[in-house]
Amino acid sequence: MHRATKIVATIGPASSTPEILLQMIQAGADVVRLNFSHGTADDHRQRAEFVREAARQAGREVAIMADLQGPKIRVGKFENGKVSLVAGEPFILDADCELGNQERAGLDYKDLPRDLKPGDVLLLNDGLIVLNVQRVIGNEIHTIVKIGGDLSNNKGINRQGGGLSAPALTAKDMEDIRTAMSLGVDFVAVSFPKNATDMEMARQLANIAGAPYGIKPKMIAKIERAEAIPALQGILDASDGIMVARGDLAVEVGNAAVPALQKRMIRMARESNKFVITATQMMESMIYAPVPTRAEVSDVANAVLDGTDAVMLSAESAAGKYPVQTIETMAAICVEAEKSEQSELDRDFLDRTFTRIDQSIAMGALFTAFHLGAKAIVALTESGSTALWMSRHWTHVPIFALTPRVGSERAMALYRNVTSLHLDTNTDRDTALQQALETVVSKGYASRGDMVVLTVGEPMGQAGGTNTLKIVRVGEPY
Ligand code: PGA
Ligand code: MN
Repeated sequence: MHRATKIVATIGPASSTPEILLQMIQAGADVVRLNFSHGTADDHRQRAEFVREAARQAGREVAIMADLQGPKIRVGKFENGKVSLVAGEPFILDADCELGNQERAGLDYKDLPRDLKPGDVLLLNDGLIVLNVQRVIGNEIHTIVKIGGDLSNNKGINRQGGGLSAPALTAKDMEDIRTAMSLGVDFVAVSFPKNATDMEMARQLANIAGAPYGIKPKMIAKIERAEAIPALQGILDASDGIMVARGDLAVEVGNAAVPALQKRMIRMARESNKFVITATQMMESMIYAPVPTRAEVSDVANAVLDGTDAVMLSAESAAGKYPVQTIETMAAICVEAEKSEQSELDRDFLDRTFTRIDQSIAMGALFTAFHLGAKAIVALTESGSTALWMSRHWTHVPIFALTPRVGSERAMALYRNVTSLHLDTNTDRDTALQQALETVVSKGYASRGDMVVLTVGEPMGQAGGTNTLKIVRVGEPY
């Protein structure tokens, strides 16, 4: 069953054996996410090796994403592991406190008191606990508990409305970038960037750390801070893609604002020729149950209809009871939702101007394939940008991207409606086109009599060189 929307599966304790990883890949995981908020460098190294091995066994490329922890602001540890906060009572967040108790908690980010003023609202543990700031005295933040509950070690803190000054890359992130590059990851997700500069800095660090391994990873900005919303266009321009990181974002901007923001982010990303992942709590109940709720089914389907490239699983696949079934279920929801999605290609093309030859060929191929009722688009690509451009507009014509570069092949695993395949192109153009077509036919994606639209660059082997569009019928003299 052809599925256009991609699945990103976070791996963790529930999914770290080669057997489970193979099953997850066979069930439809296209990208595997290593969450650097948990686990050691050795854990990640081991998991990355298992993923590469499982992908080899499954016979297809699976991309790996390293997701950096970022400056998530957290309370410290407690004498008894946790405390119970009661509405109306005072509670102190104290940058100097080593071990917390019923009266006060420590802070991992020592500058937090400087960012706050009376009247600020702090949300702890994903918004389950709410504190009203009364006053700041030196390194102590004095609050009154508005909504109480259990607060355990290292739970996160957000300020309502955003505005905390912590830099986007911590010392740990910089170390983790080096680890990630040594693992050969394909994507780096940056947590809590507030502007384009944060992303530029992260990219620079990743490129420097990746140079010895010949890697320039694709950079993903996780949109999860209030400040990132007005800075979104700049962040998009500085990134390869974004993640609608609904968990932290909802805490900062309020739950109710997130669905509309999701739609806007997906639209802006596509218009900017960037990819987009929709993340967090998509199949949350499947952490414990073998079936999702109706609301979760609708959530995944709606993200597909919004035009997301990928939907993501977090705890469902990292720590849940049913990692494989969750992926299978999610895949089935995507396939069904895609059936009802209308193409708006003609509308998308109104008022568009193209400045590049390769982009014009990509758009011409897409337009032609759509209106000609072609069975497939087959793009020979070096960097993958031809496939990226084509995939920014939805049509039901699947895009097959063939590339000699394994890095491009993996990166394209995230692009909607793109199936990436390997092809050695150290031949002349016509041989390469013929081989590309044979590859697609031999995998059953097109058969005799089908119309196929091909794109290629001549001379071969140059990124950005696509300049040729060819239309063929499978099986007819070439
Ligand atoms: P996280 O990011 O899972 O790393 O917190 C995603 C989110 O905040 O939604
Ligand atoms: Mn987050």
